[in-house]
Amino acid sequence: MAKSATKTKWKSRAVTRLIEAGEMSECSHCTERVKFRARERNHQVICNVYIGGSWDHVEHFHALCYEEASFPFGEPLD
Ligand SMILES: [Zn+2]
Repeated sequence: MAKSATKTKWKSRAVTRLIEAGEMSECSHCTERVKFRARERNHQVICNVYIGGSWDHVEHFHALCYEEASFPFGEPLD
């Protein structure tokens, strides 16, 4: 994986997290809910989106949707 030069400016980044019980977010890619299912340890990708160097909003994706969307906010970290 290619690492771009580190910049001091804040930029959008993505992390992978387990989906928690009670999670009610909507996936930014498929627009379906990112739902907790007791028997599956599903992951979601949470992206902090920075616009012009300042935090703007958070987006949620199903882990697979994030891949399908070609990592819009970079490769997710654990
Ligand atoms: Zn999705």
